[in-house]
Amino acid sequence: MNYPLRNWVLLICLAIQLPSFAQTFRIFEKPIIFNEEREKLSLEYLKNRHGIDQETATIVPSMVVVHWTAVPTLETTFDVFNPVHLGGRPELTSASNLNVSAHFLVDRDGTIFRLLPDTTFARHTIGLNYTAIGIENIGGPDAPLTKAQLKANAELIRYLHKKHQLAYVIGHHEYYAFQGTDIWKETDPDYLTQKQDPGDRFMKKLRKKLADLNFKSKP
Ligand SMILES: [Zn+2]
Repeated sequence: MNYPLRNWVLLICLAIQLPSFAQTFRIFEKPIIFNEEREKLSLEYLKNRHGIDQETATIVPSMVVVHWTAVPTLETTFDVFNPVHLGGRPELTSASNLNVSAHFLVDRDGTIFRLLPDTTFARHTIGLNYTAIGIENIGGPDAPLTKAQLKANAELIRYLHKKHQLAYVIGHHEYYAFQGTDIWKETDPDYLTQKQDPGDRFMKKLRKKLADLNFKSKP
């Protein structure tokens, strides 16, 4: 056991690093149902709502839309997104019976779950689904999003940007800015819902964490 000094220094450095290795960014896979029927409804949505005719229900991501669930727990939210068909929301079912969902769910402690591959179509933001990755955070007006969620969103968006070279990061409540531009693709000009999630405070803090990546917030 006669390590040269240099090796000891290296070993000590590694030992100091270990706790931070243990907390590195991680995504847990928790897939929702994506069967033939969900794919068929997604293709219909792409065609009828976005005016895009495709053979696969895939997207080329150029933006991330950040949401809150307004549903208090991860499991309840998962149970809302998991079914293929939408139920009980007449303002949405008239446009399509494809259920709403998102690509990622971030729990209040910052744990990240992937519900769908980043490039699979998901219905979460009118006019922009065809190009937007959706991140849903467990929380709402009565349960403001946490610091852990803020950190997780920033890390997740950095990871997604490396994969897809994103141009925009927006909060769902900011999506109106795209209406009337080339990026907005919705065949019915009156199909719009009022959104407040996740709010200016959270987006301001998130943008501060991502400032070096120069994402745009509007067209
Ligand atoms: Zn939303």
